[in-house]
Amino acid sequence: MENYYQPEIECASREQIQAWQDERLVKQVKHVYEHVPYYRKKMEEKGVVPEDIRSTADLHKLPFLTKDDLRQAYPYGLLATPLEDVVRIQSTSGTTGRRVVAFYTQHDIDLWDECCARAIMAAGGTKKDVVHVCYGYGLFTGGPGLNGGSHKVGSMTLPMSSGNTERQIQFMCDLGSTILCCTPSYAAYLAESINERGLRDKIKLKAGIFGAEAWTEEMRRDIEKSLGIKAYDIYGLTEISGPGVSFECSEQRGMHINEDHFIAEIIDPVTGEVLPEGEKGELVFTSITKEAFPLLRYRTRDICVLSREKCSCGRTHVRMSKPMGRSDDMMIIKGVNVFPSQIETVLLNKGYPANYQIIVNRVNNSDTLEVQVEMTPEMFSDSVTKIAAQERELVDALKAMLGIYARVRLVEPKTIARSEGKAVRVIDKRNLY
Ligand SMILES: [Zn+2]
Repeated sequence: MENYYQPEIECASREQIQAWQDERLVKQVKHVYEHVPYYRKKMEEKGVVPEDIRSTADLHKLPFLTKDDLRQAYPYGLLATPLEDVVRIQSTSGTTGRRVVAFYTQHDIDLWDECCARAIMAAGGTKKDVVHVCYGYGLFTGGPGLNGGSHKVGSMTLPMSSGNTERQIQFMCDLGSTILCCTPSYAAYLAESINERGLRDKIKLKAGIFGAEAWTEEMRRDIEKSLGIKAYDIYGLTEISGPGVSFECSEQRGMHINEDHFIAEIIDPVTGEVLPEGEKGELVFTSITKEAFPLLRYRTRDICVLSREKCSCGRTHVRMSKPMGRSDDMMIIKGVNVFPSQIETVLLNKGYPANYQIIVNRVNNSDTLEVQVEMTPEMFSDSVTKIAAQERELVDALKAMLGIYARVRLVEPKTIARSEGKAVRVIDKRNLY
């Protein structure tokens, strides 16, 4: 099984992909309608019957599913097969509210492994590789997903799980790990530890597959440089299967979504209206091949853009951008969708610390946006001209990212209040709600 790359699927024509999606969607809608009372009720509330869904063109007629539905239907309310066909569960970390439990039949595990195998192959993996998995194992999908994918590729798999950095580095050196799978922040930490110990020459890593948290292009470059590897992004969520819903190819320009298994839509997070290709909005997934836990039109809350532009790797599956933020965090300023994460990206790229505050107000019926940014002690100076120049530079960079003017005010080091836990980044004084 040296070559798990499947050009007949991954490089199929648009017509072929469309045909698969049409056929599988129709079948899937019947499956959930017949086996999941929760779905049937939701569809009935919207006045839709399975016969109304004849192709993906009818997808928009189906109701959305949200995390609230998953919580309400907990634990078994969305299970679409008899319990005896289920072989595994995975679960989200559940930092807020009830946990989400996702169910898998053996078929579902196989298709998930297949998606992860594609991701590993796209990062240059073959059966000759040594795949070092230090995502957590257990209920979290990261470890089991990449583990299964690596088995499918036929690579020697190191099920390291997370933590114990000494042992990670020891095995990496002794066993000659070539592909590292973990969160980008752990990869950065490993890189630092390896370089501190002067072991950079002892490692054989060539690629990394990093996901499960947000990371910037700058962080990618840092990790690539400090480990001497190519760093690939991977995306997924437990509700849809786990990592491998989409993955980066050697182009590193967006992640190919496995369209033979998942249909992606981009919607306006406020109105729910489906947006045309290339527009920024909330990512919605429909799972068309899963048996036990097939979610239809599941709202991910992740904001991104889809592109069908031809990819030079040869894969034809649609690409999604890295998520630019969560729809829960979206602000509408002067009619433009703005995410705190976009502002943060600009600040970090310009070398500012992540200590900032965003103040939104409405003056004479017009929205105003102000970003207060803390300088580092090195940046701080008494020269008003110098500070004004730095502020202008940030105004231009923010304008390029957001498309609107933001006033920038640089403040002295340690003047923005630190908070325990989640920082309060946005102060919206408009009282719109
Ligand atoms: Zn590609």
